Amino acid sequence: MTFLFPNYQRKPIELVSGKGCMVTDQSGKQYLDLTSGIGVSSLGHQHPVLTTALKQQVDKIWHTSNLYTNSLQEAVAEKLANHKDYVAFFCNSGTEANEAALKLAKKATGRNKILSFQQSFHGRTYGAMSLTGQSSIQQGFGEMLGEVAYFPFNDIEEIAENLNQEVAAVIVELIQGESGIHVAYKGWIKELYKLCKKQGILFIVDEVQTGIGRTGSLFAYEQYDIEPDIITSAKALANGLPLGAMLGKQSLAQAFSPGSHGSTFGGNPLALSVACQVLDLVQTPEIQENIQQRSSQFFNGLQQIASKKIIDIRGKGLMIGIELTDSLVLTQVMNQLENHGVLTLKAGTNVLRLLPPLTISQAEVAKALEIIEEVLAG
Ligand SMILES: *Cc1c(COP(=O)(O)O)cnc(C)c1O
Repeated sequence: MTFLFPNYQRKPIELVSGKGCMVTDQSGKQYLDLTSGIGVSSLGHQHPVLTTALKQQVDKIWHTSNLYTNSLQEAVAEKLANHKDYVAFFCNSGTEANEAALKLAKKATGRNKILSFQQSFHGRTYGAMSLTGQSSIQQGFGEMLGEVAYFPFNDIEEIAENLNQEVAAVIVELIQGESGIHVAYKGWIKELYKLCKKQGILFIVDEVQTGIGRTGSLFAYEQYDIEPDIITSAKALANGLPLGAMLGKQSLAQAFSPGSHGSTFGGNPLALSVACQVLDLVQTPEIQENIQQRSSQFFNGLQQIASKKIIDIRGKGLMIGIELTDSLVLTQVMNQLENHGVLTLKAGTNVLRLLPPLTISQAEVAKALEIIEEVLAG
């Protein structure tokens, strides 16, 4: 008997504690965590700085509503802007950040059409689900927003013909996460961005999974020589506390006046007290270097694994996809890794996805590679 909806396929293990990159289940078995939740606990479990920040805030105030000045929101917004002219709106999740982006894009441009990509993922609420270019996610839920159209990823021709002055925005993931770690080509993004600028089309980058250090920079867009009009963030932003953010260029700020948008819980002090520290930590040279070094260690190590089960290895930073021959092989590999004490994720139908904490050590990556090689040899 369960009192829960069966909308998640849950494993019988329950993770009851964690420290750094290790988590422990109810039977006391330990696992190396190559998931960070799903790219959420990116600074590992029980990070002492984050735990202290949260405990201090717990003893001050938990909730204030957005009817009052909020200096924590100001501080986190400034860190997210990262010396550029962005202003922030805070919410509680990735899907909500994309809802805010959708509303802002329409309000700011007075246009209605939104262009998105095939195999994209932007969330589960109606607007964000409509932006998601996967029929399997939309199936059974009636009509989606009619003004959204989906184009082939990494292909300029088809979308270029549809960039006109009816289009409010284009929304894109720089690495499609959920559908299989597909990296956007830099040349494609730069061309698309340039064409959008010409037509006054807002360029929205969904950095819910790629942001907060995951790909080696605070946001992945920094590696593409562009400055998006709108950026959405969530997942790792508060290392596990619910927090989402939409950043928009200062020039769009006036499109949201009092009453245009809001959230009861959005930008609450508990999550923000942690986010404030997260943003400082991911920018430290220690973490930045660790991401580069552990990323090279992972990609070099994976490339040396000679297994007929590997079709392709993709990604950036510590967002890694290993495409396997088929979904059955993926399931077997993931189960065996779990038996050997390594937790991993799935992306698409046949991609083994690794989103380890950005704090993972050299010895832990070496251990992970050893076990992955052993399992893939089996
Ligand atoms: C996870 C994810 C979302 C949805 O975030 P939620 O917090 O689950 O609503 C949106 N976009 C991308 C790219 C994601 O990876």
